[in-house]
Amino acid sequence: MIDPFGRAITYLRISVTDRCDFRCVYCMAEDMTFLPKRDLLTLEELDRLSTAFVEKGVRKLRLTGGEPLVRRNIMHLIRSLSRHLQSGALDELTITTNGSQLERFAAELADCGVKRINVSLDTLNPDKFKEITRWGDYAKVMAGIKAAQAAGIKIKLNAVALKGFNDGEIPSMLEWAHGEGMDLTLIETMPLGEIDGDRTDQYLPLSAVRAGLSERFTLTDIPYKTGGPARYVEVKETGGRLGFITPLTHNFCESCNRVRLTCTGTLYMCLGQEDAADLRAPLRASEGNELLSNAIDEAIGRKPKGHDFIIDRETRKPAVSRHMSVTGG
Ligand code: SAM
Repeated sequence: MIDPFGRAITYLRISVTDRCDFRCVYCMAEDMTFLPKRDLLTLEELDRLSTAFVEKGVRKLRLTGGEPLVRRNIMHLIRSLSRHLQSGALDELTITTNGSQLERFAAELADCGVKRINVSLDTLNPDKFKEITRWGDYAKVMAGIKAAQAAGIKIKLNAVALKGFNDGEIPSMLEWAHGEGMDLTLIETMPLGEIDGDRTDQYLPLSAVRAGLSERFTLTDIPYKTGGPARYVEVKETGGRLGFITPLTHNFCESCNRVRLTCTGTLYMCLGQEDAADLRAPLRASEGNELLSNAIDEAIGRKPKGHDFIIDRETRKPAVSRHMSVTGG
């Protein structure tokens, strides 16, 4: 699948549920209305859709959400999709998780061929963890990380950089993550969906974070790539890798290889644009995949060049109205 700008689309992210057991303040309002369960694609339908993408050239699948591991019987889908790893059709099957259910599922994930996962963690302070996630249990997440490591799964930590919240903590998070053999990636907060607070209060440009870290650590740009949008540096003092995901300070769209599927079968060709394609109707219209395949081709033909996120005091409204939990982070 090649889009109008010559980019090969080889990476599908699937939000398997919009529900989450956390309420991170920059992601959701505390009082969220979720989709009625009857609107969700079944696990079998998610499998069929993902498989159609694999047959059309997708090499990497990431299940996300909401919290992917709270979707009922999610391991059934992961187990089933792992057949594409065994056949060699897929290079990587992975998840992005808040870690709350990892202790339960780590061994089975490893058994399904999941080799690396992303765990979201914005602070190492249990009180601040409660403050930012509203509902999260820090000890459970730590136990989940340990369980995944014990099962042989590599972990990359993702932390959203938040002004006045974790900026002072980034050096110690970096040292801890690298000491535990984990990469750390920092993410700029993106204007997605209405939240309870004001995003301008939270926004921290990673260019400033990098400048601050450079006073203490030796950061060297490296060409390391994981198929996602992060740009990496090596940190000489720790020997580990630090990634930067900078949708605001450095638009990363030129190398975008991704599309995103929601749990209702809507395909978003860009995280930061409203345009979408409904794949549920062609999926359900026939047992064969011809209609679906045509609908996917048509959607890829509309993939936009990129997004233009802005966070400032004049731009009060989010760039897109849907939350990250809908499109899948
Ligand atoms: N529940 C899973 C998790 O916590 O990783 C997967 C879904 S979550 C939406 C995926 C990632 O998106 C998390 O790392 C989260 O911190 C990040 N995220 C959510 N809203 C965001 C926003 N407005 N800007 C930047 N990152 C955001």
